[in-house]
Amino acid sequence: MRVWLLDTGTLVIDQSHITWNQGAGTPVRFPTYGVLVEHEDGLLLFDTGYDLEHVNEVLPFELPEQEVSQTIPAQVELCGFAASDVAMVVNSHLHFDHVGGNKHLPAAEVLVDAREIAQGRNCEPFEALGYSDRTWDHGAARLVPISGDVEVAPGVRLFETPGHTIGHYSMLLTGAPDSRPMLFIADVTYTQDSYDRGVQAGFHHDPVAGVRSIQRVKDLAAEHRADIFLTHDLEAWGTYRHAPEHYTI
Ligand SMILES: [Zn+2]
Repeated sequence: MRVWLLDTGTLVIDQSHITWNQGAGTPVRFPTYGVLVEHEDGLLLFDTGYDLEHVNEVLPFELPEQEVSQTIPAQVELCGFAASDVAMVVNSHLHFDHVGGNKHLPAAEVLVDAREIAQGRNCEPFEALGYSDRTWDHGAARLVPISGDVEVAPGVRLFETPGHTIGHYSMLLTGAPDSRPMLFIADVTYTQDSYDRGVQAGFHHDPVAGVRSIQRVKDLAAEHRADIFLTHDLEAWGTYRHAPEHYTI
């Protein structure tokens, strides 16, 4: 299968959000991106970045930098497809920086953890900013609630990794036997440093579940000999291939 990483721009948060309680007072710019997967069953997109207008309105202190070329429709076109070609969206979770492009993908079924959907609609007060972009819940959205580990297509597996949010998923892509599987851990940890040290983000729903999920993705990476892809690490992002370049596995 072919895999593209879609650049959806950057944001800024304090270091103490990246590594819980550590490094307060240091602003850090970080990337956001989606993962477009072309496999035999169709075109799938894992996470859809943030909506610039929403962030400017609700979270301007995160200093968004996003060109028109870094929106989901533009990025999908860069790979040779139209937004309407995307048959399935998987949202790792429903935070604003993972769902902003959902509304541009009218033909897609949208797979989300069932508890995450309920939480996104009625979250705890401390989670309100995280879940502030509710445009994923538009009237025509074809939401498909899921639970447990699930293989959504041959070689495309979702693993439950809660903690950061109540219904958070990571995605493992497994291709030809001679290729390295790819493991996208979404927000289990944001950066290589926090992954290596086992430090979850300051923002979380359940820190005990979060610790277990960090161990879970480490075990998955070892078991499948997979390459880990960090979501919010600018240095790591610089080492990845960006659309229209792609991975073939
Ligand atoms: Zn998040």
